[in-house]
Amino acid sequence: MDNKKRNKYKELIIKTIEEIKTDIKNLEEQTKPIAPDNAIGRLSRMEAINAKSVNEKMLGNKRIRLTRLENALKKADSEEFGECVLCGEEIEENRLKLIPESNTCRECAQEAENSR
Ligand SMILES: [Zn+2]
Repeated sequence: MDNKKRNKYKELIIKTIEEIKTDIKNLEEQTKPIAPDNAIGRLSRMEAINAKSVNEKMLGNKRIRLTRLENALKKADSEEFGECVLCGEEIEENRLKLIPESNTCRECAQEAENSR
């Protein structure tokens, strides 16, 4: 990968990290402890609990993605960035644009998915 491309992906990773951090902050706000029954009423409390568990799941996923992005950023200057860790081929550009933290090519990712 040439430096121009590399810098483009680095920018993309940094931008995505910023976005995810904002998302995490918002989700953290939304997963705070829920007020007791008498404060918000029984039905809305149940709704709040449901929404909270959805948000907690999303928060978990975002945190995992943030770690992956930060690792990708650390690796972005090395030769192996943009190469599949499984087969060593270059990762497709469309895939990197969509998931700049990916460390496997589409084929290997699919294989890993299938063998789960
Ligand atoms: Zn591969």
